[in-house]
Order: sequence, then structure tokens, then C-alpha cells
Amino acid sequence: MRPFARRLLALFLALIGAALVTAGILAVTLGGARSLPVAAIVLLLFTGAALAAFFPLRNLGRRFDAIAASAETMIGGDLSARAPVDAHDDVASLARALNDLAKRSDTRLRELTAERDASEAVLSNLPQGLALITRDLRVAHANERFWALVGVDLSGLGLPARLSLARQPILEELVLDSITRKAPVTREVALYLEEKRDYEISVRPIAARNAWLLAIEDLRPEKALAALRREFVSNASHELKTPLTSIRGYAETLLAGGLEDLEHRARFVETIRAQAARLETLVEDLLELADLDRPDSPVELKDWDLSVIAREMGDTFQDAARRLGLVLEVIAPPGTHARVDRTKIELALRNLLDNAIKYTEAGTVTLLVERKPSAVRVTVADTGRGIAPEHVPRLFERFYRVDRGRSRTLGGTGLGLSIVKHSVLLHGGQVGVESTPRLGSVFWFEIPVDGPGAES
Ligand code: ADP
Repeated sequence: MRPFARRLLALFLALIGAALVTAGILAVTLGGARSLPVAAIVLLLFTGAALAAFFPLRNLGRRFDAIAASAETMIGGDLSARAPVDAHDDVASLARALNDLAKRSDTRLRELTAERDASEAVLSNLPQGLALITRDLRVAHANERFWALVGVDLSGLGLPARLSLARQPILEELVLDSITRKAPVTREVALYLEEKRDYEISVRPIAARNAWLLAIEDLRPEKALAALRREFVSNASHELKTPLTSIRGYAETLLAGGLEDLEHRARFVETIRAQAARLETLVEDLLELADLDRPDSPVELKDWDLSVIAREMGDTFQDAARRLGLVLEVIAPPGTHARVDRTKIELALRNLLDNAIKYTEAGTVTLLVERKPSAVRVTVADTGRGIAPEHVPRLFERFYRVDRGRSRTLGGTGLGLSIVKHSVLLHGGQVGVESTPRLGSVFWFEIPVDGPGAES
């Protein structure tokens, strides 16, 4: 029996008891013939009053019990439970208030859970290993990357776990150092974690939690990026230096008497002009690439018919192809629309057609535009010298050339395919090549019809 019902029953029994006692006292004190009827009337009145009060009170008791039961369910964690609101009185208001409280708590709990899940998703996807360390060197909380880095299997491991489980004394040493110094500590160390590599370990105090945040960061990506940058600068400098040296050499020859050399001076000046033009092309390519590579590189997407762009570009190269005895054909069904930045697509096409004509001694260059289910595929195929398979994976790298000397003679900078790749990537597309030595090459790119972000 619920407490309220129990109390009600006790009250009811007490009333009956009181009625009996009162009737008894009256019977004794009055005495005589009147005593019994008076006692009976008093008893009847008490019992009647008690019975009249019993049913509404029992009903009230049941409603309170129902509210109490709902409250208990809510406390037990089920915030979808609701107390019955079955009238328009104070008890119903109480039930309504309780329901409202449960509803709000439920909403807030859901929000907090979503926030926690989002933070955990962020934490677990961070490339750094992160752990919250307590003063007694225990891990109170850590992301998956941390456990993976220190090679500890989390399953069956209760938190807080001892930091010494990571078997990397340097971690404890740095945390202790930060605790003693009451300041952040950072150190670059070579560790055997997943494999021997350079890591940056940092520890910073979190005053509000009386804890220390330990972060382990793999320095390899940054080092690789720095190496890539160094390589690029060194390549670019080398490329620029070659024509500059040549220009300087010929200019000095002219100054040292070459101007009077009627037979050769025109050739010297022509070489200077050609080298200056080469420098110009190189700087233009570098600027184009830098522009495409900028994180905020502007892409002006509009709906264009790629067959029109392809035909116009084909016309531009027709003369050059004819002069070299090549056939240039364009197969592009009208109405092949896509959302593209026209200038960037033209840039990609120009570089592919320029290469195809440059590296094809005889035969045909074909520019093909095709509609795929959700993308447009543009192919430039040639019957040229082709490319040996070992070079194919690196073709789209900056300054990568199969035959350095030949590329230079033909006016190549080694940046053309890199420009193609970046132009296409800005559209959310992909590039590729299939090539057979001595038979020819097929360079292609595919861009999603609806622009970047759409399925290709
Ligand atoms: P480049 O300015 O030297 O042409 P690219 O980046 O455009 O630089 O191309 C890189 C290298 O790929 C070229 O040096 C060349 O060896 C090879 N290549 C590109 N296109 C073709 C092609 N159509 N046929 C054969 N080789 C090609």
C-alpha cells in the first residue's frame, strides 16, 4: 500500500476509534435510558462523517499516489513518463508542473547529450592524442587517438587509469614538470609509439578541473609539408636560374665584343628573347598555380555548355596541329552542360591540348566531351609517344617531367599537369591518365554537373 493510502486508512480507523470512544464515554456519563440512543446517534454521526470524507480522500490519495509514482519513474531516468492530469484543481496543477519539468529536463538532457556526442566526435577525430591527467598521474579522460598512440587496449580498462600504463616515462615526467612549474610545458621527442617518429608532447594546466591536458602530436605531416615546400622553392629557383644564366651569358658575350660580330649577334639576341619568353611562361605558370592553390581561390561557377568551350578551344589549337601535320578532332555533343568556372576549365583544356600536340609526332589528337550520369567527362587522347608506367603515378606533381631535356626544348615548364589537376580539384572533380608507350596517351578529367560537392 502506498504511503498516502496507508495514512488515509489510519486516519479512517482513528476516526472510527474516536467515535467508539466518544460514544462509550457518553453512554457511561449520561447513564440511564437516554444514554444508548445518544451514543448510537453520536456513533452514527461520526461514522457517517468518516464515510463521507473517505471516498473523496481516497480519490485524492490515489491521484497523489499516481503523481508520486510518475515522479519516481522520472527519477529512475525515464523522462518520457507523465503524471495524469485528470481535473482542474491544485493537484492537477501539481501534476502539470511536474510534467513540464520532466519535459524541459528531457529537452535539456537531449541537448547536452548531443553537445557531448559532438565534442566526443571532434575529440576522437583529432589527429592529436589528448588525455586529461589528474594530480596523481591518472588518465581521467582520453580520446581514442591517445590510446592508439600509446598502444593501450581500452577494453577492460577502467578510468581513471594510471598514466604509467602507457610505458612512456617521458609523459609522466612532462606532466610532473608542468605540475611543479605551474606552467605549460612543450617538448619535441622521438618516440617509439606506433613506430619511431618525432612527436611534440605538450602539457598545460586546466585550473578549473585541477587537471593537466596532455597532447601528443605527430610531427610527420608538418615536416613532410615543410620538405615539400623546400623542394618546390628549390625546383622553382632552379627552373628560373637556367634561363636567367643563359640571358646573362649572352648579354655579356654581346657586351664583350659580340655586338660587332655581325654574323652571330642576331642569334645571340634571339636566344635572349627566347629565354626571356621562357621565363615569362614559367612565371605565368607559377602565378596560375599559386592562384589555384590558394585556400580562398575564387571559383566563379556558372552553367556552361562544355561542348561550346571544347570546340572553341579546339579552334585555337587547329593551326598549331596542322603546322605539325597532326589531325585535331573535337567530338562534343551540343548541350553538355555543367556548372564550371569557364576560365579554369579553359586553362585545364589548354594545358592538355598543348601537351598532346607537343608530345605527338604523328597522327591524331582527339578532344572528347561526354555526359556521364552526374558528371561530364573530358578526354584528350593522342597517338603520341606515350608514357612508361613507372612515370604515370608522379605525372601530376609539380615540375615532374619524363624527359626533362625534351620538355624544356618544347617550351614545357613541368607545371602544366599540376595546373590541370588543381583546376579540376577546385570543381570537386578528378583527373586521370592511361598511357601505352609508343601508342599514345589518354588524359581525362571528370567534373560533377552540379559543381563542387555534387557526386561525380
Ligand atoms: P611540361 O610542361 O613538361 O609538359 P606537364 O606537367 O604538362 O609539364 O607534363 C609533365 C610531363 O608529362 C611532361 O614533361 C611529359 O613528359 C609528360 N606528358 C604530359 N602530357 C603528355 C602526353 N600527352 N604524352 C606524353 N607525355 C606527356
